[in-house]
Amino acid sequence: MEETTHSYFGQTLITWYGRHKRALPWRDTENPYFIWLSEVILQQTRVAQGLPYYQRFVETYPTVQDLAAAPQDEVLRLWQGLGYYSRARNMHHTAQLVVAQYGGIFPDNYAELIKLKGVGSYTAAAIASFAFKEQVAVLDGNVFRVLARVFGITDDIAAPASRKVFQKLADTLVPADEPDTFNQAIMEFGAIQCIPVMPDCMFCPLQQTCFAFNHGMVQELPVKSKAKAARPRFFHYVVFELNNSFYLRKRLEGDIWQGLYDFYLYESDNKILPEAQLLLELQSGVPVQQGQLQPYVKAYKHILSHQKITAHFYRIKLQEPLKNEVLKETRLALYNVEEIESLPKPVLISSYLKDAKILVSL
Ligand code: SF4
Repeated sequence: MEETTHSYFGQTLITWYGRHKRALPWRDTENPYFIWLSEVILQQTRVAQGLPYYQRFVETYPTVQDLAAAPQDEVLRLWQGLGYYSRARNMHHTAQLVVAQYGGIFPDNYAELIKLKGVGSYTAAAIASFAFKEQVAVLDGNVFRVLARVFGITDDIAAPASRKVFQKLADTLVPADEPDTFNQAIMEFGAIQCIPVMPDCMFCPLQQTCFAFNHGMVQELPVKSKAKAARPRFFHYVVFELNNSFYLRKRLEGDIWQGLYDFYLYESDNKILPEAQLLLELQSGVPVQQGQLQPYVKAYKHILSHQKITAHFYRIKLQEPLKNEVLKETRLALYNVEEIESLPKPVLISSYLKDAKILVSL
């Protein structure tokens, strides 16, 4: 009986997929490099937003060797706007590993793929099944939701221990002959039919067997405990300008925007700049006077998964270059506008540069 239900579930989804799937470029390829690129780009990103990035990466770096050989700044610049920059850094690093350790050829099975840095269980399963037709289930947010609803699973999907429960079930559902189509189908079904709010139950081919529908629990499933409230952070950027060039610095290892460029940053506990403290910090090397620190009219907000950043910008025109000891201590360096244009930057820095008419071609 269980087997019948499982094969009915798989067949129904595959038939549904044949009729409703969206035409997406990474679905027409078995090239593991392209599949991997699309999966990395689409994590925590909507398809409509990720699509142009996928196209840009495929065009700029048609092979994993091309990506591996690219400078990190260039990769981050191309990634700019997608957020979660550690994904881009890991992606770049993984490309280099694939070239160095595997001669530029992606491993052809889940067990080897999962060993690659930056490749988690989801991505390994996606590459293994889409490119090599291995019978392994993918598990992303869409799959969690569909399984919880159809099979009535009440485990909290935010709890790491629940993953095993879902993975065990999902692995029994993947058909041996079409693992790739099944995995695509269940993710697509979660993305456009069994969506989080107001799923289309009326015209759903799984309605009769769906636990949530038959028990009036569509809104209750999946169970997901609430994430902690995001921590507020207040950034005050001092934009030092010298003869139409600007001082920026590259953010360091472990930082939220590691590898990206921003301005001199003073972080405070509230949105009002503690001017006296900042002046004290700058005292020894930068000629800034009380009252010169006027914020740019607009404040910029940026929401990360656990942080809510509000940034203010204070532009200071210098008469002479910053001293060497200041540059050494702050890691600032002077860049002209063309150079700034090509540097990878957090989106709020790009937005400010555009609004303040420092960069016009963004
Ligand atoms: S009946 Fe509704 S809740 Fe159940 S699988 Fe279909 S769309 Fe999802």
